[in-house]
Formats: sequence, structure tokens, C-alpha cells
Amino acid sequence: MGKIKVLDIYTANKIAAGEIIERPVSVVKELLENSLDADADYVEIEIKDGGLNLIRVSDNGHGMDEEDGEIAFERHATSKIHSLNDLHSLVTFGFRGEALPSIAAVSQLVMNTYDGVSETGIRLKLVGGKIQSKEPLGITQGTSVEVWNLFFNTPARRKFIKNHSYESGLITELVTKYSLGHPGIRFKLIKDGEIIYDTAGNESVISRLSNIYGEELGSNFIHIEKQELMPKIFVEGWLARPKYTRNTKSQQTFFINGRLVKSSELNQVLEQSYYTLLSKGRFAIGLINLKIPGIELDVNIHPAKLQVKINNYEKIINLLTDIFKTGLWNTDVIDKKKGTITYADIKPQDELTARVNEIKNEPVYFQDSFSLREEIPQKIPQNSSEIISFQTNNKEEHKEIPSPVIIKEKQAECVKANSFNFYPLGQLNNSFILAQDKRGLYIIDQHTCHERILYEKFMAQEESKEVVSESLLVPVSLVLSGSQEGVLLKNILVLNSLGFIIESFGPRTYILRNKPVGLNIDNIEEFFLDLLEDLGNNTNVSAAKIKETIIIMSSCKGAVKAKQKLSLEEMNYLIAELNKVKNPHSCPHGRPIIHHLSMEELYRIFKRGEYRGD
Ligand code: ADP
Ligand code: MG
Repeated sequence: MGKIKVLDIYTANKIAAGEIIERPVSVVKELLENSLDADADYVEIEIKDGGLNLIRVSDNGHGMDEEDGEIAFERHATSKIHSLNDLHSLVTFGFRGEALPSIAAVSQLVMNTYDGVSETGIRLKLVGGKIQSKEPLGITQGTSVEVWNLFFNTPARRKFIKNHSYESGLITELVTKYSLGHPGIRFKLIKDGEIIYDTAGNESVISRLSNIYGEELGSNFIHIEKQELMPKIFVEGWLARPKYTRNTKSQQTFFINGRLVKSSELNQVLEQSYYTLLSKGRFAIGLINLKIPGIELDVNIHPAKLQVKINNYEKIINLLTDIFKTGLWNTDVIDKKKGTITYADIKPQDELTARVNEIKNEPVYFQDSFSLREEIPQKIPQNSSEIISFQTNNKEEHKEIPSPVIIKEKQAECVKANSFNFYPLGQLNNSFILAQDKRGLYIIDQHTCHERILYEKFMAQEESKEVVSESLLVPVSLVLSGSQEGVLLKNILVLNSLGFIIESFGPRTYILRNKPVGLNIDNIEEFFLDLLEDLGNNTNVSAAKIKETIIIMSSCKGAVKAKQKLSLEEMNYLIAELNKVKNPHSCPHGRPIIHHLSMEELYRIFKRGEYRGD
């Protein structure tokens, strides 16, 4: 007896806060949505130290009177819903009445509010959710909520939030994204005393896109005009031309009834709409605005209301995909001058091209030891990967006349790490090299093979080099999203030490002037943005780890791709190079390179009895 106690209301709020208020950006989201619910057309957000010291959200919305101001901090107090039926006609952002008490429970909070009709406004001060003082205040209509020392009474949570610039980045990303969904509202964001985002009051979505992504990308969005998808369901979209992509879905922004949501269904719509237009592993950039009657939605499945479940979503997905596909294909999605970025456009490493040119004039021999005929090896014409199995010689001759490419490599490089002596028969599906030696057939993944070769080469260069930085012929200007900026600032010293020299050039705009020596990537801007995305997914990365990430990414981008036709010379070159690597078995991402089908296995498969060698 006496062991079970009903939690006091402050403890209950503190526990609820754990669900809703994960980090500073969650506070900003809740306060911002409250301001929008209050019909504000100007919202100002100020943060200090990534929001841990201060988050202030001020608006010119309808405000609250004294009574409502106090009740707002009681759990499940909301002016937005009165019964279960109201859930179905829900159009506002909040309705659970949990945000303010939860935020107050884990901070020192000051709220100033005035409804424009009461005698005066009021100021409420709360510590850990308890009202400490209430005083009259003369202010204009609207509300401002100041959240000081977030998580001051939940030290474990506060400790978990280490990096201020990362948190600021998340907040900037949220505010800029929100501004896309509400182009009629002015948003101003002040970070550590500096205005970093300030929009005009009544703007077009396109001008906000340009503001956020820069002029070039901003002018490359295809507008899918507002239309009625099904009765009372409306959609409007802005889809970036397929040559502008990201390596994650983070720039796919969705609003449902003006609320920023995550939706794997809408991610799927974009994936299907851009299908065949984007390379594997690349993701579209897009903004989708949906208006759906409340009855079709279940917004209650996520405590922070980030995820929305759409009823009947299969039908909606199909209709949306059709509309977007038509919109994309009816516009000149492919920039005629440059073309979309496809795998084929990413050139093989310069070195490979040079090497291939060098050996183009050399005779290359080709053997087929399955053949019974014996003939003098012939020179293979240029680009002759199709002419498989016409030139033959037996295995003795093979010993005497090995491929000149391999001989050359042997002379140049006395020490070979491996001893593959197989030679290419041809290419399967423009993706795999088929090769053979007396032990059987080898199937080589051309991409992982080349990736491994480049990776080891770059690693070796890295270890031996002293000068790390070289200037770019044309400096690249980067317009970063809030979170990208956060990642950049967090890792800037390490990036500098690796040879990336970056200068600040205005709000969220940077100039990349120098790159690491030897990083020969066609699209350095895309590469750098991918790198930031990659770094953003990992916390506390060491310089060595970043270096390795850069090397893995350079190897992957520089390597020949699947579905890329190779000449026999190129295949020979890859095999010769594979001979030199330390680990010929897997690429830096861990995918296998070679699959061997032994003669023994082939004999077994074809029921030829036991294989006893030639
Ligand atoms: P919810 O938004 O789910 O209703 P909150 O805890 O976020 O719950 O807010 C509680 C109530 O306080 C809201 O229903 C609203 O009436 C009032 N409120 C909160 N923020 C504002 C604001 N910025 N302007 C006017 N009223 C507000
Ligand atoms: Mg709310």
C-alpha cells in the first residue's frame, strides 16, 4: 500500500515533454504553428546558442486574453477542438493542447500576449511549468513566447544536445521550409543577434524557392498548377528539373493543409514521377502542397504531428503521380544544352581515359581456350568488345603471348598484390566483365572493381602528399539550407585541413575556392553538397573519417558505372589494375567485386564427371 502514486501535474508534463519536445527545433515548430493558427502574417523567430539559451517566437496574431493565457498552460487546453467530431474538420496545426505545457515544463518561459480588446495585455512567467508571476503589460496585439534555458531541469536531455550550430541549422531549415508553405506570411529569423532570414510579406513561392536554393535552381522548378485531384482535394507542386538532385530525400518538402509533414507516401510519389529521369541513389527536389478535408486525415499518429496518414492514399498517390509525370514530361525537363546528369555523363577518371588512349594503339590479343582451333592471334580492332571468341589460340600460346597490356603493367610495377591471370571475354549487360583463366569463369562487377582501384590509389596519394589544397579554376557559389549550413560550420576546420577553403558570402551563401589536390570531380558543387549531407548523417566525425568519406565518394563518382559499355582494352586495364590492389574482394562500401565459377563447378553443373584439369 502507498507505493502507487498519481504523478503530480508538473511531473506528468515533464514526461509528456519528452515525447513532443525532442530538441530545440521541436519547440520552434510548435510555437511557429501556434502563431500561424493565430492568423499571424508576421512571425519573428529569435534563437541563441542553437535554441538552448533562448527561443523567442513573436507574432501579430489574434493573441489571448488573461484567462486564456493562463489556461493555455494547462494540459489538454486547446481552443481548437471541443469534441471528437471536431477532429474531422481539423484545419489548424495544433489541437492536442499539449505543446505549451510541455515546453513550459522543461524551460523558464515568459509569454506576453494581448488580444487587442482587453484592457491590457499580460505577461506570464513560468519555471518548470509553474506560473511564478502574472502582470499587466502594454503591447500591441499578438503573442510572444520566450523559452529560456531549455531542458534546464532535464540534464540528460540537455547533455544530448551538444552542437549549437547543428541545432541552429535544423531550426533554419524548418523556418525556411515553413516559409515555402506560407508565401503570404513574413518570416524573420535572428540567430545569435544576426538576421539570417527575412522574407517580404507577400511573395510568390518561386521567389522564396530562389531565396532558399539560389537563383539558378530557383528558376529551374516546374510549377504544377493548383488543381482539384478528387472532390475537395487540391494539389499544387513545384518540381526541380531532374538535373538538380540530392543524395537524400531531405529537400522533398510537403505541406498538408499548411502543416509541414513527413510522408513516405509523398516521397514515393516523387520517386515514381521522376522514375527513369534520375540516376540510382539520387533524389528529386520538390515542394508539394496538399489540401485535404480533415476527415481524410489521421494527424494524431505522431506526438509531434509530423507524420500524417492519408486515408485512401493509394488512389491519391496514383493520381498525383500521373499529374506530376505529365507535368514533368510535358516541360523541357532535359536542359537541351547540358542534358540531365546521368551516369554516362560522369566521365571515367582522367587517368583511365589517358591510359585507354595510350593502349589504343597497342596490339591487344584475345584468347579463347575453349576453342579447338589453333590460330595466330590477331589484333583486335578498336572498340571491338563484340568480337568475342573469334580469335583463338591454345593455352601454351597464351603463356607465350599474354596480353601486352598485362606485360606492360608487369614491367612498370614489379610487385603485384594479386595474381589474377585471367583475361576478358566480353561484357555482360554492359555491367559485368566476363573473364576466364584455366580455373574457370570470373564475373567482375566493373563498377565495384574500378571503385576499389581508385579508392586504394587515392588512399596511397593521401598518405604521401603534403600540399593538400589547390584553387578551383572557377570558384563555386553554394546556397545552403539551414541544416547544410549547420553541418558545414560544425566541420569547417576539418574541411579546411583537408583542402576545402570556403568563404562566407552572405546569408547561407558560401564560396568554395579551394579543393583537395587530386579531387577531380566534374560537378564539385554536387559533390560538396553530397558530402555535407553525408556528414550530417553522422555526429562527431573525425578528420580521418571525413577524409575516407571523401575518398570513397570520389572513387564512387570517378568509377565507371554499370550499363557503361567498355572496350576490351578498358576491361584489360581494369583487370591489370585489380591485380595491384590490396583488397580485390570488395569495394569500399563492402560490395563484392569478383564471382568465380570454377571449372569443377561447371563440370558438376553440366554433369561432365569430375574435372581433372586440362
Ligand atoms: P494546441 O496548439 O494543440 O491547441 P498549444 O499548447 O500549442 O495547444 O496551445 C494551447 C492554446 O493556446 C491554443 O489552443 C491557443 O488557443 C493558445 N495559443 C497558443 N499560442 C498562441 C499564439 N501564438 N497566439 C494565440 N493563441 C495561442
Ligand atoms: Mg499548438
